Amino acid sequence: MENTSKIGNEMYNLIENLYPICRSITGNGTRETLQIISKIIPIQIHEVSSGTSVFDWTIPNEWNIKDAYIKSPTGEKIIDFKKSNLHILYYSLPINKKITLNELKEHIFTQPDRPKDIPYRTSYYSEKWGFCMSHEQFLKLEDGDYEVVIDSELKSGSLSYGEYYFKGNSDEEILLSCYICHPSLCNDSLSGVVTAVELAKFIEELKQKTNYSYRILFIPETIGSITWLSRNQEKIKNIKHGLVITCTGDKGKINYKKTRNGNSEIDKIVIDVLENSNEDFSVLDYFPFGSDERQYCYPGINLNMGCLTRTVFGDFPEYHTSADNLTYVSPLPLANTLKIYIRIIEKLEENYAKFQLNGSTTKKIKKSLSVDPVFVNLVKCEPQLGKRNLYHDLGGPKLKPFHGRGSKDTTKIKEKAMMWILAYSDGTNSLKDIEVKSNIDFETLIQISNLLCDHKLIKELK
Ligand code: ZN
Repeated sequence: MENTSKIGNEMYNLIENLYPICRSITGNGTRETLQIISKIIPIQIHEVSSGTSVFDWTIPNEWNIKDAYIKSPTGEKIIDFKKSNLHILYYSLPINKKITLNELKEHIFTQPDRPKDIPYRTSYYSEKWGFCMSHEQFLKLEDGDYEVVIDSELKSGSLSYGEYYFKGNSDEEILLSCYICHPSLCNDSLSGVVTAVELAKFIEELKQKTNYSYRILFIPETIGSITWLSRNQEKIKNIKHGLVITCTGDKGKINYKKTRNGNSEIDKIVIDVLENSNEDFSVLDYFPFGSDERQYCYPGINLNMGCLTRTVFGDFPEYHTSADNLTYVSPLPLANTLKIYIRIIEKLEENYAKFQLNGSTTKKIKKSLSVDPVFVNLVKCEPQLGKRNLYHDLGGPKLKPFHGRGSKDTTKIKEKAMMWILAYSDGTNSLKDIEVKSNIDFETLIQISNLLCDHKLIKELK
């Protein structure tokens, strides 16, 4: 790459342009973001109607918001959505009334361990209303009647996503995926978006035709990847390798989260590129929490998708708060991470030319052991656990990869056990294998497996 600082600045400028827009998994902010991207690279914008079934999920109603505020008992606007769009619980229902402080407290979300920051919270699939504020401000709220106004609308509409496609010499594809559903947050989400835009520009400007075809998705996280996979099932077989792009703009070292298969060509190439770079890096085994790699790697889909970030989402204290802002990301790390992505693409192209690819990625199915059950999934992507009351419904801090034994929060352990079992129930991993990977005790895994069988989400392979 010729001019690192010029490209880094361009990427940062695009983050600055996109930062103020109020985005969610649906709505006009997401459309506006796709329009801006479409002026830089050729993307097709798709709209999928609310109510459409996508595997085990349904496209939700579309959410839009014009304004929101809280006025104190003295009439002062103490929370103003127009000053920070993180002040709203995303997908809040409209409200306009006066309530007491005690009632108000039921609808306020704060993050006590980051007392100065506004947390980012969502409630996509459970109808609620709420505000987010710094814990410091929350502690200062005085008794009295508060005016709460949320001028939002939740009604039938559509989910929007963008798709870039570049036809190479073969139909075999590399899939790159980033998410466009986060509002004013820079490293989580927007850094991935601008990296994906630069990669499309890089592919467009190549002098010679590529061996692979390239597809880049700009989608809302989770529901967007499920939607794309569900609508494009015939294309999945062409996808040979892929990466989820996010958290590329902070100053931390690079982290590569391997594909679920753990030993695929993309894993080897990324590790080789990192070993031959000047970057400090770590390689993480797959874990079933995180971003859209959960859907792409899910047993019914089984793509070889890794995730290349700097500091992993959830591991930086600014994550999902107002501190993940324009000062948290900077041009140089953005440009340096882009270099790694470009080198990976170059290496994939070189390898394609060297080897005849074997199209099958399906592993042979092992025989199950009677004392150590092997399960298979009955749903193609992650099932919607919330609608079965199997999962907490409030989006917040992401589950972190480890802490199985020793943790006292049994609900969290059970939720984690569910994610591990679902992610590895592909007919090859026994429950003992999952015990080793997850560090969750076997008894809990048996209990949760039974629950998942009852809900017809998995079945034992006999
Ligand atoms: Zn996030």
